[in-house]
Amino acid sequence: MDDDLEILFDAEAVEALVTGLAERISRDYAGRDPVLVGVLKAAVPFLADLARALTIPAEIDFLEASSYGSGIASSGAVRITKDLDRDITARHLLIVDCIADSGRTLKTVMERLRERHPASVEAAVLIDKRVRRVVDVPIRYTGIAVPDRFLVGYGLDKAQHYRNLPYIAAVRGS
Ligand code: 5GP
Ligand code: MG
Repeated sequence: MDDDLEILFDAEAVEALVTGLAERISRDYAGRDPVLVGVLKAAVPFLADLARALTIPAEIDFLEASSYGSGIASSGAVRITKDLDRDITARHLLIVDCIADSGRTLKTVMERLRERHPASVEAAVLIDKRVRRVVDVPIRYTGIAVPDRFLVGYGLDKAQHYRNLPYIAAVRGS
C-alpha cells in the first residue's frame, strides 16, 4: 500500500479522546454491568482501548455488520454477518464502532438488538462523519466530528490494510 496519508489524530490525540469517553461511560454505567458490543472489524482497537480505560465492570462481545458491496462508499442495506454469542435479554448494551458515516450500520444494529429485549441500547463512536448522515440514529457518545474524507487507521481500512496503524489519517486526495 503506497497511499499518501495525512495524520489527523496521532496516537496521543486518540488516547485523549478514548479517555474522555471512558470517563463519561464509567460514570453513566456505574452499577449496570454493560455489555460492550464491538462491531467488527473496525471497532477492535477502539473497543480494546475503551474497555481498558473503563473503571467499571463490563462484558465484551462482538458482531459483524456489512453493507453490500466493498467499495469506498457504503452502498445501503446492512446485514449482520456474525452474531453475538450470548443472550442479551435485560442487559445494558453499548454498541461500539470506530466511525459513524451514513449511520446505517449503527441504526440497523441497534434495531436488530432491540428486538431481543435488552434493558437499554446506546452507541459510542470515536469519530463521527456527521455531515454524511442519511438516517437518523441517536449516538450517545461521540469522540469527535470529522470532515468528509476517507480515513484509515485505528481500525479503519482501505482494502483491509491500515487497520493496525496507531493513528487516524486521511488518504490524501480524498
Ligand atoms: P455507515 O453505515 O455509518 O455508513 O458506515 C459505517 C462503516 O463504513 C464503518 O464501520 C466503516 O467500516 C465504513 N466507513 C465509513 N467511513 C469510512 C472512512 O472514512 N474510512 C474507512 N476506512 N471506512 C469508513
Ligand atoms: Mg471497510
